[in-house]
Amino acid sequence: MTEGSRQQAIERIGHEIFARMADAKPAVFSTASATGALLDRAMRGEDLKARLFRLVDVLPSLRSGAEVARHVAEYLGRDAAELPAIAQWAVRAGPRVPWVTAALSRFGVRKMAEAFIVAAEPRKALPELGRIREAGSAFTVDLLGEAAVSEKESGVYAARYLDLIDTLAEAAAGWKREEQLDTDDRGAIPVVNVSVKISALYSQILPAAPEASLDRLTARMRPLLRRARDRGVFVNFDMEMRSLKDLTLTLFKQLLEDDEFRGTLRAGIAMQAYLKETPADLEELIGWAQKQDTRVTVRLVKGAYWDTEILQARQRNWPVPVFECKEETDAAYERLAARMLDCPEVIDCAFGTHNIRSIAACMQACRARGYPDNRIEFQMLYGMAEPVKRALIEMGCRIREYCPIGETLPGMAYLVRRLLENTSNEGFLRATFEEGVSAADLLRDPAEVESAAPAVPPSGFANEPHSDFSRSEFRSAMRKVLQDVRAGFARSTPLRIGNREVKGAGEIVSRNPANPEEIVARVAAAGSVEAEEAVEVAVSAFAMWRDAAVDARAGMIERAADLMSGRRFELAATEVFEVGKTWPEADADVCEAIDFCRYYAEQIRRLGGAGDGVPGEEIRHVFQARGVAAVIAPWNFPLAILCGMTTAALVAGNPVIMKPSAESVGIASLLADILWEAGVPREVLQCLPGHGGEVGAALVEHRDVSVIAFTGSREVGLKIWEAAGRTWPGQAQLKKVVCEMGGKNAVIVDDDADLDEAVPGIVASAFGYGGQKCSALSRLIVFPGPREKLIARLVEATGCLRIGDPSDPSVALGPLINKAAVERVRRYVEIGRREAKLVFEMAAPETGGWFAGPVIFRDVSPGSALAQEEIFGPVLSVIDAADLDEAIRIANDTPYALTGGLYSRSPERIAHVREAFRVGNLYINRGITGALVGRHPFGGFGMSGSGTKAGGAEYLHHFLFPRVVAENVVRRGFAPGV
Ligand code: NAD
Repeated sequence: MTEGSRQQAIERIGHEIFARMADAKPAVFSTASATGALLDRAMRGEDLKARLFRLVDVLPSLRSGAEVARHVAEYLGRDAAELPAIAQWAVRAGPRVPWVTAALSRFGVRKMAEAFIVAAEPRKALPELGRIREAGSAFTVDLLGEAAVSEKESGVYAARYLDLIDTLAEAAAGWKREEQLDTDDRGAIPVVNVSVKISALYSQILPAAPEASLDRLTARMRPLLRRARDRGVFVNFDMEMRSLKDLTLTLFKQLLEDDEFRGTLRAGIAMQAYLKETPADLEELIGWAQKQDTRVTVRLVKGAYWDTEILQARQRNWPVPVFECKEETDAAYERLAARMLDCPEVIDCAFGTHNIRSIAACMQACRARGYPDNRIEFQMLYGMAEPVKRALIEMGCRIREYCPIGETLPGMAYLVRRLLENTSNEGFLRATFEEGVSAADLLRDPAEVESAAPAVPPSGFANEPHSDFSRSEFRSAMRKVLQDVRAGFARSTPLRIGNREVKGAGEIVSRNPANPEEIVARVAAAGSVEAEEAVEVAVSAFAMWRDAAVDARAGMIERAADLMSGRRFELAATEVFEVGKTWPEADADVCEAIDFCRYYAEQIRRLGGAGDGVPGEEIRHVFQARGVAAVIAPWNFPLAILCGMTTAALVAGNPVIMKPSAESVGIASLLADILWEAGVPREVLQCLPGHGGEVGAALVEHRDVSVIAFTGSREVGLKIWEAAGRTWPGQAQLKKVVCEMGGKNAVIVDDDADLDEAVPGIVASAFGYGGQKCSALSRLIVFPGPREKLIARLVEATGCLRIGDPSDPSVALGPLINKAAVERVRRYVEIGRREAKLVFEMAAPETGGWFAGPVIFRDVSPGSALAQEEIFGPVLSVIDAADLDEAIRIANDTPYALTGGLYSRSPERIAHVREAFRVGNLYINRGITGALVGRHPFGGFGMSGSGTKAGGAEYLHHFLFPRVVAENVVRRGFAPGV
């Protein structure tokens, strides 16, 4: 068949569908309904749409009429005139009779939810499911729920599925079989069909450890599948974000290969046409099914997470996994459909789409292969596209409606997605029903539409993408390198002063905190004598380095970034062993180090240049290096912080003496090697591992050290600040101190916070890397409204963290850095037991490693030691606040001011907290750790630091003296350019 005749056949089918639809509009677009009225308004502008949908999202979680009235006013008060009359009235009534506003708003949202959600629970859904069948459609049921943040919640979800299967199977026994719905040309089709999302069945999926997730998911799915098989129920595995795709496919295949289910279970899997990888996945699935000699259903959909996939890829600098142009997805859909239809012995086809062109193309492809129309099935969402469904039913097609069941509140994410889909500019439904685009246009071949030119990536600095451990190539690279690095542990690193190797003052032995018997690195240590010699060498190299071309210095640092990028797995693996970071945490630290190099290299090239002169006078701003810099770094970001401070000083023209923490000398010596290999002379960069009180102090107090870049504890920072303030005999200039210290960071959880987001964000911020981040959350400030539910969910979620040796990627929480850290945590836990109420404590594994399990206290008094002192371990204090003002007062009331956070869905409160919560880095509705170079310049004030911002545009100024040169260019009354 030629392309032309194929297109004609598709158009014929398409026109028939349009003709049968006549002028019918789907219910959602009818302005007589609450949903219709809302969508009608929402389509008038992106801003109003965003505010309306955010209001819909938050409403069900509000506890009182006054709360509802406040939110309605905040979201819609500004331009109530744009709203339907009843809504205007409701907004205006808010201040006087909040309960009226609340009742009307809740009624509206409930009505809207009812348009897309069949019922709150399976039993209540039965009459509507019966009606759907009477109207000529089969169904598949999906259970909506809040995101599962703990195994308890996943367990509840799994139990609800069992109940769903039982309830539907019992009811179905009494339903009449319908030829059009319950058979195809090859036999009977199960009446009951359920759709399962794996993310809800296991709450602790770690992309880096699919094997462990697979085991847990298999254990959760097995009873469900058994029940489904025994009751003759069909199970479809839904597809969610791309990061879960490979896991979902593997789970599906493994379970169907199992003797228990092979050949006895009717099952299917969804595939998403918008993913560029789907053709390869489909081939793989077909090959597998042929080998297994089994038939499975593939539900081909376009894909419902398009915005999120694109946002996430852009935010992480990952390749975008989906087609960015809609026509590409539509064209891919048709190709995939054809391929599925070519494999009738192994694939049953279900096509999930509302797009009439796609539907017509699938029907044409089916007929062209000589199959009857009922060989394939079309799936459409409940509450949407009724005229399309009716037309297809009349044409004798098999239709299945995708029917969500669940409460409005947990179903909100689903509801908002459907509203977005209905109003999205590109939504086929909208084009068909609202905008009256002609049938001929809607039936055009998507393959013929020119695909838009790919977006040109912006030039300039871009963050190094983190490893996507959901991809097997990244996992196998990391696994292999971990072995290689472990095999090379024995190596010991000599001490160098300039070009000379020297004996040093002993040795530092760095141990694996997960297994202290294991020595990760041995390095020769420096003492105060070596510090003195190193400063002398650095002083002699100063003029040469200062006067080197900026491009030459920046180029070396960029070369170092490239070298690190090439060795990123080796560096990350070293961190896993030396400081106990998990794979993703170690990888992120390496990326941050690379970012610092590239960012500062770019920044130094921009500094300086012409100033604002007047005719006849030329002004030049010049920046000049300060002199020898001592870089004194902590162990907790052993590469990034050391590298960031060092490269900032180097690109600015200062020779550097690095003094890494004794806990991370192995990784520090790798950094020194890389910088030397990149071309930085050995006199210009020296690395002096040693004990802080000796080498660190000697450098700080040296008269010829001009810059001290320090990151570490408040105790040491204050000592350095003071010592640097003294002037030593022979000292030629004032010392500049960059001083970044600790934090006692708080997150406020507002009454209306989305706990599905807040709980995982809190767990990650408080317990990620065992709370050993300066940005870690240690004070959680909560209001009475959400308090009990929040604490309960938090405790459950924390209890699911797997603690152990982080070289195993299924471990979420590694060891603390050393024995002293474990003891410090124990001391604070004892204080907490006396001063507050312990609500959670996890036993640490007794494997000999320096482990401490996470601990949560509640009823913590804001002034207590627990709430005021930096613990630097996995201890979270929950503090009560009666209202927002008190919460802000508590949040600000520590000597520190580093990071902070807020979870809220109130625009006015967010605006208020943005101003009033005074910290260096404030994060709203997200976790509070993980600052990215360039995007989140990092650093605090108060006792957290001197106000400098690492990874920010002004950072290099601290390593430079600014100079201004003004030149009179007038000669005998004449100046060029006048
Ligand atoms: P630390 O203060 O014990 O050590 C930091 C560095 O200072 C080490 O290299 C150490 O050897 C050196 N040192 C120790 N005594 C010294 C002295 N008398 N003179 C000169 N140098 C001396 O801190 P740590 O345990 O390595 O790191 C954890 C601390 O760092 C926490 O308080 C954390 O909040 C803070 N930190 C802050 C930031 C930030 O950006 N604000 C980032 C990471 C860590």
